[in-house]
Amino acid sequence: MLSVIDGSLTPCDIAIVGDRIVGTHGTYEGLRKIDAAGRIAVPGFIDMHLHVESSLVIPHEFDRCVLPHGVTTAICDPHEIANVLGAEGIRYFLASAEAVVMDLRVQLSSCVPATTFETSGARLEIGDLLPFADHPKVIGLAEFMNFPGVLASNENVLVKLAAFQEGHIDGHAPLVTGFDLNGYLAARIRTDHEATTAREAREKLAKGVSILISRRLGLQGSGGAQERRGCEHVFVHGALCTDDRNPLDIAEEGHLDHMICRLIADLKTRGVPFHHAYRVASWSAATAFGLRNRDLLAPGWRADVVLLDDVEHCKVHSVVAGGRPVERSLFAARKPVEPVGLSSMKANPVTADSFPVVAHNAPHPGDRGEGGPDPQRASQDEPAGARRGDLHKYRPGCD
Ligand SMILES: [Zn+2]
Repeated sequence: MLSVIDGSLTPCDIAIVGDRIVGTHGTYEGLRKIDAAGRIAVPGFIDMHLHVESSLVIPHEFDRCVLPHGVTTAICDPHEIANVLGAEGIRYFLASAEAVVMDLRVQLSSCVPATTFETSGARLEIGDLLPFADHPKVIGLAEFMNFPGVLASNENVLVKLAAFQEGHIDGHAPLVTGFDLNGYLAARIRTDHEATTAREAREKLAKGVSILISRRLGLQGSGGAQERRGCEHVFVHGALCTDDRNPLDIAEEGHLDHMICRLIADLKTRGVPFHHAYRVASWSAATAFGLRNRDLLAPGWRADVVLLDDVEHCKVHSVVAGGRPVERSLFAARKPVEPVGLSSMKANPVTADSFPVVAHNAPHPGDRGEGGPDPQRASQDEPAGARRGDLHKYRPGCD
């Protein structure tokens, strides 16, 4: 078992009752045993900001796709479905969040549409958001992209911020610094995943912001050692977020496990031990969003446990989510949620006749040998697993 606090490794059992860890640092007997000999247990990973819709799958599929990679909690902004369907989309998302195995938490979409120039299917004003504010899956208000509106004291913006002062308000303020940053943060915005340079991240850290390291940016984007000084605090006051990853990338590279692997490699070059990466992915993340019951392997904490074959490369072997071993039957037992928005796509009907392609000057079919590739042959010659459709050939983790 790895302590994400001090980096110590302790050979021991972890006793679980229901959804809670009840014993560590000892040996225990139980009704069911999971043999983890030779493996290392770390707390479940938390993705602090993403939009499930941008993964191009529904929450039930996202659950099945990502939980085996160790992501036991994901904090989502259903911004895209809300952009199309408004409150109906959020209702669907919350119903799905209650049905899936992983703990899917929701930040209510703060800026629908994102700008007044968008032709979205819906607008969400404060009256549309408030009915969801007390839902058990809702944490607060999602990425507040309209930072010009905050700084200009726009009335519709301020009323949303005022209503969620007791919840968590997530930020989105690329390149906002100095007095503007003060003004933005004075609205009680607490996190940001859009820092583009170490200098910007350092100022935000100094002003109390929890920095979410996104897979796109990281903190190694610019500047040398001098520039990065101060950013080590991100290991306490930070978290990881994918801010979207499509299923092919998840299948080929992984999800947060891939980010952790990359982060460990980066930390290694700077002489920082790997347990900091696991802390950012778990305890620091939970603390930043006020999830106070999870992400330490200790008695009394939620039993979200990831068993690793390789701790330095974050190779996930298996996962326990809320005390339940993650296995096929768990996903099969989930309650389905009635789909919504099935008529939201405005496109002409597609038939076989929609696909003919006229190739000018091409040899007649069956007239091969005059040059040009043989499509059937080419496909047979591809190495096994080279086609991006062969998802089943890929396994979690990264090299
Ligand atoms: Zn986002």
